[in-house]
Amino acid sequence: MARRRVAICDLIGRTVVRRNLVAGNWKMNGSRAMAAAWCADVAGNIGPAGAGEVAVCPPHILIAAVVGALAGSSVRVGAQDVDVNDNGAFTGQTSARLIADSGCRYVIVGHSERRAGYGESDQLVARKAGAALAFGLRPIICVGETRAQREAGDTEAVVGRQLAALLAGIVPEAWPEVVIAYEPVWAIGTGLTAAPDQAQQVHRFIRQRLAARDARIAAQCRILYGGSMKPDNAAQLIDQPDIDGGLVGGASLDAGDFLAICAAAGS
Ligand code: PEP
Repeated sequence: MARRRVAICDLIGRTVVRRNLVAGNWKMNGSRAMAAAWCADVAGNIGPAGAGEVAVCPPHILIAAVVGALAGSSVRVGAQDVDVNDNGAFTGQTSARLIADSGCRYVIVGHSERRAGYGESDQLVARKAGAALAFGLRPIICVGETRAQREAGDTEAVVGRQLAALLAGIVPEAWPEVVIAYEPVWAIGTGLTAAPDQAQQVHRFIRQRLAARDARIAAQCRILYGGSMKPDNAAQLIDQPDIDGGLVGGASLDAGDFLAICAAAGS
């Protein structure tokens, strides 16, 4: 199905249009050969930029090849992490300046694998988002609860705390460029997907929290769902009123599956 863009009015009556976004997260997967074949397939079949946007986030080492291979297509490229520093003696790290200079438009920030595996705090995630925004990148900022937190009834407390750090750390003028990805940790890479109404409930909570700060931020901010999104569940999820696309891990490695998810989002 091809989903419409969402047009809503903010509090002062202006029409705000949120374009769906489907972003692929290859994580630490792929190769130069895989990237060349994937880009040829996706660039050849994606069509012009329409109601939605499409992006792919390969490992840093493949970014240059992917940017080159997708040149002239409507598919944007993103990175999977960013350092808070601009430049200097930070061996192994990659700055927003370098990511933007490489031709990227997006960067994933605060993925649960980084929060859990590399000790990234809510405050560090907000600083990383700020660094990305300062260089014209759109951060895709991940939030979400673990299975234990959901079972303890703490989903809103956890997501609310993660959002509070973002609202404290990102200036209001920058929010139109911010994308939030709600990724329940228990659904990432597990094959378990949040049911559409279950995901919508948390997406609505996120939008309400944003609205409590500023109705315009809430109206403009795109909120993606991530967690075992596949061609057979994408349309139902993206059709929910507060879900504006998907952050896709495993299924983004297969060009055919990724294209099918983009089609479900009208992208
Ligand atoms: C992710 O890593 O952001 C993700 C959503 O992974 P998967 O689609 O494989 O669950």
